[in-house]
Amino acid sequence: MLARRVYMDHAATTPMDGRVWKSMAPFATETFGNPSSLHQFGRDARLALDRARGKVARLIGCLDDEIVFTSGGTESDNLAIRGVAMARRDTHRHIITSAIEHHAVLDPCRFLEQQGFEITILPVDGYGLVDLRNVAAAIRPDTALLTIMMANNEIGTIQSIKEITALAKENNVLVHSDAVQACGVISIDTQNLGVDLLSISGHKLYGPKGVGALYVRKGTPLIAHNLGGDQERKKRGGTENVQGAVGFGTACEIALEELDENSARLKKFRDLLIADILNRIPEVKLNGHPTQRLPGNANFTFAGTDNQSLLINLDLAGIAASNGSACASGSPQPSHVLPAIGRTEEETRSSLRLSLGKGNTEDDVEYVVEHLCRVVEKIRRAEKKITDVEMMA
Ligand SMILES: *Cc1c(COP(=O)(O)O)cnc(C)c1O
Repeated sequence: MLARRVYMDHAATTPMDGRVWKSMAPFATETFGNPSSLHQFGRDARLALDRARGKVARLIGCLDDEIVFTSGGTESDNLAIRGVAMARRDTHRHIITSAIEHHAVLDPCRFLEQQGFEITILPVDGYGLVDLRNVAAAIRPDTALLTIMMANNEIGTIQSIKEITALAKENNVLVHSDAVQACGVISIDTQNLGVDLLSISGHKLYGPKGVGALYVRKGTPLIAHNLGGDQERKKRGGTENVQGAVGFGTACEIALEELDENSARLKKFRDLLIADILNRIPEVKLNGHPTQRLPGNANFTFAGTDNQSLLINLDLAGIAASNGSACASGSPQPSHVLPAIGRTEEETRSSLRLSLGKGNTEDDVEYVVEHLCRVVEKIRRAEKKITDVEMMA
């Protein structure tokens, strides 16, 4: 019998939709021209790129030429933050962000701090929400940018971006939002939200890896950091990733078409998963907001466990979960998000994220709950034995 495998780590990456893969292929082999070339090959590639741009723009409600294609969420975040900071540095040297941002936002902010900018890091409440009063208090005449994520990748909390943006706009502060996790599962309308910049990524919405976009509202001051080409209206030099952009465009088109259905389905499974786990496992806490959270996100703290053992034991049962923060280095860094919502070091170490996606079924939820009950109990028994031995010694 083939061992069962259940993927519940969609916040880390998603499988590419077959329709996406199919739409990309001709642009690697047949329509391979450089979009900057004037001949037919180039013009065909340019047309494909522009069509893809239109599809991305429609998903987030902006103009086609407000989309800058990038290599993904990390680059979009970097371009937004460093690009605006560079453009406004003579008069505005203050940036506001939150304690639970992705490293792709926090690290550029820290970098700018070393370059003489001042950074205000806003705290969040026990659910991971930024308080509007703190935003208001942090804004200064020299604030260049406020960057707050739309939805958190670890605990799934969705911020009230529209309210935050309105406050910033009253004070002439530009607003960037990392919407990498939100995009494709909650509806995003850049016009309605009022943001100036917004980051999205292909591989988090069933598109290809290594491609993403930054929405840049017309007229937003931004200096490119990729120099050496006039591509993307001088905001991102380098020959465009045409097949990647085409795939990303298809993924956005599908995401828009299926958003309501996909989101409702995920929500149903998420609520089932959360209810079952809270009912069946003692001494467990849900991390993040109970309702204002991503449709596919669940994050728990299981007292008396540790996430390495949880992950390894679940992996043995064919289940892919996560401790929350992706680790590029192989050695997982402890989460900075869980301490920010008030979890202790020990609680942070015993937390687990399950992120649902399109491929998951109700059977998957049952399978995961079943194994999680068993695994948590097993780890707790083992840890208890160790403590008993220590006490006897
Ligand atoms: C995944 C992720 C990123 C990084 O996107 P990449 O395309 O992998 O570079 C940035 N922000 C958030 C919230 C993410 O979840």
